[in-house]
Amino acid sequence: MTIPANAHIAAMAPYALADLSVAPGRRLVSLAQNESFRPPSPRAIEAAQQTLSHLPLYPDPDWTALREAIGEVHGIEADMILCGAGSMELIGALAAAYLGPGDTALTTQHGYLFFRTAAMLANARVDLAPERDLMVDVDAILDAVQPKTKMVLIANPGNPTGTRIGRADLVRLRDGLPESTLMVIDEAYGEFADGLDPSCFDMANRGNTVVLRTFSKAYGLAGMRVGWGVFPRPIAQDVRKLLNPNNISVAAEAAAAAAMRDQSYMKETVAETARLRDSFAKDMHNLGLSVPPSYTNFVLLRFASAEQAAAADQELRDHGILMRGMAGYGLADCLRATIGNAEDMTLAASILGKFLSGRTP
Ligand SMILES: *Cc1c(COP(=O)(O)O)cnc(C)c1O
Repeated sequence: MTIPANAHIAAMAPYALADLSVAPGRRLVSLAQNESFRPPSPRAIEAAQQTLSHLPLYPDPDWTALREAIGEVHGIEADMILCGAGSMELIGALAAAYLGPGDTALTTQHGYLFFRTAAMLANARVDLAPERDLMVDVDAILDAVQPKTKMVLIANPGNPTGTRIGRADLVRLRDGLPESTLMVIDEAYGEFADGLDPSCFDMANRGNTVVLRTFSKAYGLAGMRVGWGVFPRPIAQDVRKLLNPNNISVAAEAAAAAAMRDQSYMKETVAETARLRDSFAKDMHNLGLSVPPSYTNFVLLRFASAEQAAAADQELRDHGILMRGMAGYGLADCLRATIGNAEDMTLAASILGKFLSGRTP
């Protein structure tokens, strides 16, 4: 008999990644995984290439060069920064460090699904606080806190909603939570909202508060797997123990450090993405879809019904365009569209335009 996995693992479904299948022979346009349509900074590519002659050696377990780059750009002390193989590794390590049987992780109704996965992997319970108009609702989160709530996780801006709450609301949430509750603010799309509010990194100084970022979105380095976060020092020390000691490859660290030091390139990506996003959102709004305001590199398209969303998904797929169905997020009437290049967004808009006006494209 095959050895059974621990019961809580055996009971879990595999993490649902995007279905990337299209009609045979079609050029595939993936708007399904919130990847950047713009390549990373040429300096990042160059820096990674330079490392290819050092491959016999293990990476720097302290991520010295990367932490220095992040620290200088964001004004954070290096010993408060941890780097992960994607911020997903950091989320998993936080759950493993602080959650266990009998504990509850609290997140929001339409919040990032990997939060739930990470809590379930730690054999903890997950509670969902309702959102209001597809926005995180601080009062609803505070109302949902129970004595066993050990961790509160929110993505801001949110995935898949794209909406955001301001820093003042995050501070209000922190003020309202028990001091001993760990608050995790996942800013995977933070670069798309920087400048609207002062940064939240300083909230780690209040204790029991962690702020996460990633190189996968605005920096265009999803394939390299690098995330980072700002942690209170005692939390950083314990979470560090759960990370693979050589989690970031030599090439990935070099690329990320160079990308971090090329802020102007990243800001161009953010500006270009926002321009294409706002224009696509306007087109979709004009077609009669409801589109919540997005502060990310994607938009959520809300159709008249789950059936219409599924039919639109199929129509797009027949033309080689993949968006992401949202049934897993309790939003079966929605598709999430990552912002691609101008040509791909024009094509997507035209297919949806014809579909919604009842003509087959
Ligand atoms: C994309 C995303 C991540 C990041 O993933 P990486 O592991 O850093 O690639 C984390 N949180 C949210 C909400 C995301 O959308």
